[in-house]
Amino acid sequence: MSATAVMAHVDVLPAEDAADGSELTFLPQRAARVSMYLQAFNGDKLPKLAVFDLDYTLWWGDCGKDMQAPYTYCRWAGILDKWGAPANPYADVRGIMATLVDNDISIAIASRNPDVASVTNLLRTIKFACKKGSMSIYDAVGNPAYIQAYGSGGCGGKTKHFTALHQVTGVDFSQMIFFDDLEENINFAERLGITSVLLRHRIGLTWESMIAGLVMWRSKHAVSEAEAVATAEAGEAEAKDKV
Ligand SMILES: [Mg+2]
Repeated sequence: MSATAVMAHVDVLPAEDAADGSELTFLPQRAARVSMYLQAFNGDKLPKLAVFDLDYTLWWGDCGKDMQAPYTYCRWAGILDKWGAPANPYADVRGIMATLVDNDISIAIASRNPDVASVTNLLRTIKFACKKGSMSIYDAVGNPAYIQAYGSGGCGGKTKHFTALHQVTGVDFSQMIFFDDLEENINFAERLGITSVLLRHRIGLTWESMIAGLVMWRSKHAVSEAEAVATAEAGEAEAKDKV
């Protein structure tokens, strides 16, 4: 990936960095870090669908409670809510979304936050630069049905959300990768066969967690492929014996 492309992924710099002159020392460090992580997407298999929780996964706080729509972007303060309180995503979110889009990995949401209007408004306000140009997370998701946001109706985890996502996307659970800050949600998703990453409390989605998820997914995928080859070879051997 070219240096220009890498820099496109680091448009997440807070405005104050540019204003106080720290951009000159900060930018190369961040670009080098992101460039290293981007290599994990090159030349290897990738999952088909990346599914994200919202609150405390993409941003700090409960959307609709700790911060309220409408959200607006301000050059000097980032995203602000109705009352002027910050509503920015975690620092790595924009770059990760851009990388998923650039690598044709579909994006979906599985959230137990029932305030769809507030959630949708914030997803539309968080924008990032990718090869296709500037787009919001909402644009990157592409299909409103890929946003499953509602309570679990007394059931644990997000099984209902994942079942709906499987139906609407046609993607098997084995081809999904999931990120959430609640262990309960992770455990239920794992039972479905979804590679799932528990995020650190109040740290949320980071490049490190994304790469950890990719490594886990590839390792499971390699095992299942090896099992398929072994089964096929055993079948062939059995067929030869019968002949
Ligand atoms: Mg959460």
